[in-house]
Amino acid sequence: MASVAEMKPRKPVRSKKDPITPPAPWHPFRKKIHAACFVVFCILPFFNLIRFDIPRQRFYFLGYELWISEFAIIFFSLMFLMFTIAAISMLYGRLYCGYFCPQMIFSEAFSELEEFIRKKINKRFITWDKKTRSIAGQVIFYIILWVGSVFLAFVFIAYFVEPRDLIQRLISLDVVSAGGIAGAATTLVTFIDFAFVRQRFCKTVCPYGYLQGILADSKTLLVQYHDPAQACIECKKCVRVCPMEIDIRDGAHQIECIHCADCVDACNEVLAKLGTPGLIDYEWGAVNQGGSTKIPWYHRIGLRDRKRWVLMLVLMFYATGLMVALSMRDPVLVQISPQRDQLYEVNESGDVTNKFRARITNRSPENAYVVFSIQSLPGARLDLPEGRIPVDPGESVVRTFDVVAHPSGPGPGVNHFSITSESMPDGHARSFDMTFIMPFEEASP
Ligand code: SF4
Ligand code: SF4
Repeated sequence: MASVAEMKPRKPVRSKKDPITPPAPWHPFRKKIHAACFVVFCILPFFNLIRFDIPRQRFYFLGYELWISEFAIIFFSLMFLMFTIAAISMLYGRLYCGYFCPQMIFSEAFSELEEFIRKKINKRFITWDKKTRSIAGQVIFYIILWVGSVFLAFVFIAYFVEPRDLIQRLISLDVVSAGGIAGAATTLVTFIDFAFVRQRFCKTVCPYGYLQGILADSKTLLVQYHDPAQACIECKKCVRVCPMEIDIRDGAHQIECIHCADCVDACNEVLAKLGTPGLIDYEWGAVNQGGSTKIPWYHRIGLRDRKRWVLMLVLMFYATGLMVALSMRDPVLVQISPQRDQLYEVNESGDVTNKFRARITNRSPENAYVVFSIQSLPGARLDLPEGRIPVDPGESVVRTFDVVAHPSGPGPGVNHFSITSESMPDGHARSFDMTFIMPFEEASP
């Protein structure tokens, strides 16, 4: 960057009477995105769109309830999320931080609230001395922040604990059980975070900021300052509005920059009054590629080289694989195994019995039941007094049942047959190959 002494204000390209209209500001657009993200952040756990239920060892993803035993799908889901984050970082830099990150959203919201309260108190109680007004403002802000912290901690913990459970704990002011202690600790941490830390977290310990430094390359979206004609008037408004307290004129690759574009708005607004376009803007990579309308659409969304296309293909592959895996999983899992501690039993009437054991796991949110039938075993029947086995959502039941055959039915020794399970209401049927053992024929003398 040129030194201040070297900089000579450039002649405005238009007169003050005919100022250029600054482009639509990014800040209000970003605030709308923040509001939408806040709503999404609050509803995700309540509709089980993403939630890791630690006590029940379940992972909820897009409404699917995945059991910890379905590790392959959970792993696939987490890999998909990780690839998505990596792709966003490579294409759009720290755009996530400025537009979608809860830490940034709430840090900015509470900073603005604090400022709003301070201004209101100063205006309304102008007769009070400065110190009293400051203390009153801080007390009101901390009370509101504490209530907000309880709410945010509640939503955050709902990602790990069933929300209805959590409401009960909150109502009973439970700070004794593990869930209650976690809630109280998270509330305290949230309060301290948004009272004293805020964006300092993003500048110091946030791992995503450092990860971004590794993933960004020469075509990643950046907020950049370009001033070949030395038009900067050194008003420093771009520095004053920056939530990360940096000067974008020191370079585009500053790790603290969250690509919020507040400096873009500031510079556009200041220089528009002088009839000069702003000097800061979003750019793909370190080279200013201008705003030509001839840029193809895929370049406009960041697909600027083969590496990015490959990344998109990998993401699509993952998304497709994940959808297929989710659609193929059995909501009601049935496992059948023979009980061979005794090969067979012969009852008083001469019928031969083989015992089997079924474990039924209902991984769906609805009540279900399972019906069994047997095939390819002539003269045999399935002896299950209940007829159908009901299973509550999230429950796992074990039943033993007999397959009974008339002595004149299956041949002696090992007979192959199948047991079919049909679960309702999903109507999913599955066939299990089994063996039925009849008494072996006596060897001829
Ligand atoms: S807002 Fe624009 S003109 Fe003012 S100091 Fe920043 S870059 Fe220069
Ligand atoms: S330099 Fe500009 S884009 Fe980067 S954080 Fe500061 S205001 Fe936002």
